[in-house]
Amino acid sequence: MDLSLTSDQQNIREAILKLCSRFPDEYWLERDRDGVFPLEFHKMMAEAGWLGIAMPEDVGGSGLGITEAAIMMQAVAESGGCMTAASSIHGPIFSMQPVALFGTEAQKQRMIPPVLRGEDRICFAVTEPNVGLETTKLKTRAERRDGGYLVNGEKIWISVAQVANKMMLLARTTPLDEVKRKTDGLSLFFTDLDRSRIEVRLIHKMGRHAVDSNMLFISDLWIPEEDRIGAEGDGFKIILHGLNPERILLGAEAIGIGRVAIQRAARYAQERIVFDRPIGMNQGIQHPLAKCWAQVEAANLMVMKAATLFDKGLDCGVEANAGKYLAAESGFEACHTAMLTLGGMGYAQEYHVERYLREILIPRTAPVSPHMILNFLAEKVLGLPKSY
Ligand SMILES: Cc1cc2nc3c(=O)[nH]c(=O)nc-3n(C[C@H](O)[C@H](O)[C@H](O)COP(=O)(O)OP(=O)(O)OC[C@H]3O[C@@H](n4cnc5c(N)ncnc54)[C@H](O)[C@@H]3O)c2cc1C
Repeated sequence: MDLSLTSDQQNIREAILKLCSRFPDEYWLERDRDGVFPLEFHKMMAEAGWLGIAMPEDVGGSGLGITEAAIMMQAVAESGGCMTAASSIHGPIFSMQPVALFGTEAQKQRMIPPVLRGEDRICFAVTEPNVGLETTKLKTRAERRDGGYLVNGEKIWISVAQVANKMMLLARTTPLDEVKRKTDGLSLFFTDLDRSRIEVRLIHKMGRHAVDSNMLFISDLWIPEEDRIGAEGDGFKIILHGLNPERILLGAEAIGIGRVAIQRAARYAQERIVFDRPIGMNQGIQHPLAKCWAQVEAANLMVMKAATLFDKGLDCGVEANAGKYLAAESGFEACHTAMLTLGGMGYAQEYHVERYLREILIPRTAPVSPHMILNFLAEKVLGLPKSY
C-alpha cells in the first residue's frame, strides 16, 4: 500500500499550482463581486490541455485517470479559486465520461475535442424543481419523432448555462408507468443549448457568483437522434458512470478548499499579535486548526482510495460517496474554524475566508446531499433497510 503521490502526480500538482498562481485570491474576489464567468481562466486551462486530463488520447485527451484529475482539481481549489475556479472547468472532466464510454466513434470525435479545446462550453442538466433527489421521477419528456426527439420540461440549478452552448440532458423517453424498472426509460443527450427553445433564468445564490446557476424552461426543443448517447432508455445507467467521478472530484475540491482555509488561518495566527503574543500561541487557536488538518487529510485518503478503485475499474460507489461526505464536512469545519481564527477579519471579504466558507457549502449539498449519502452507506455497508 503506497499512499504517496508518484513523481508524475506530484508534477501535475505543482504544474497546476504554478498555473493557478496567475489567478490570485484577489482575482477570485473580483469575479465573486462582479459575477463575471472566469473566461480567461477557463481558456488558460483549456489551452494548456488540462480539460482533457482524464479523456482518451484519440479524442485529444491525456489518457490519465480520475486520480490525476482529482489531484488537479484539488490544486485548483487549493490555489484560492475554490468552487468558482473548479466549477468553471470540472464539467468537461466528469460530464464527458459517458460520451467517452458509450458514444459511437463518430460522436466521440464530434463532441469531445471542441469541449477539451474550450470552444464548446457545457452544462449538465439533471436536477428538476419538482423531483429533487429522486432522479428516476424526472419529468422532462423527450418524445420520439421521425429522426429525433421533441423535448419539453424544466430543470433547476443548472450551472454554467448562461455561458454554455452545449448541454448534457437527462430526459424521460418512456413514461414511468410504462417501464419495468423505474431506472428504465430515461435517455441521455448531448446537444446544442438552443436559446430560442430554452429560457435560461439566473438563480441568485449565496456564493460562487461568477459561475451561474439557473432554471431552464425547455419548450419544443428538437434533438436529433444522433445526439442521443447510448441506447434509448439507458440514460440512467449511463449517467451513473459519470456520477462517481463527479463525487470524487467534488470531494477533492472540498479538500483543496479546506487546505487553503487552514493555511490562511495558520498564517494569520502567526502574524496577529494580541496580548503581546501571536494568537497562534494559544491552544484554543492551535487545536481546532490541527484537528481540522487531521480531518481534511484523513478525508483525502478516502477520496484518493475511491479514485484509485475507479481507475482500476473496480466498484467505488461506497468510497466515492464516503469520500465526498468526509471531504465536504471536514472542509466546512476547516473554513468555519479559519473564519473564527481571523476574528472580525474573518468576516471581511479582503481576507477571503468568508468566500471559502460560502463556497464550501456547495460540495456539502451538491451533487448529492449528506443525508442521502448516509442513507446509501447505511444500506450498502451496514445492510440496514433502504430508507428512501
Ligand atoms: C450551487 C449549485 C449548483 C448545482 N449545479 C447543478 C448542475 O449543474 N446540474 C444539476 O443537474 N444539478 C445541480 N445542482 C443541484 C444539486 O445537485 C441538488 O440541489 C442536490 O442534488 C439536492 O437536490 P434538491 O435541491 O432537489 O433537494 P431535495 O431532493 O429537495 O431535498 C431537500 C433536502 O431533503 C433531504 N432529503 C430528501 N429526501 C430524503 C430522505 N429520504 N432522507 C433524508 N433526507 C432526505 C435532502 O438531503 C435535502 O437536504 C446544483 C446545486 C447547487 C446548490
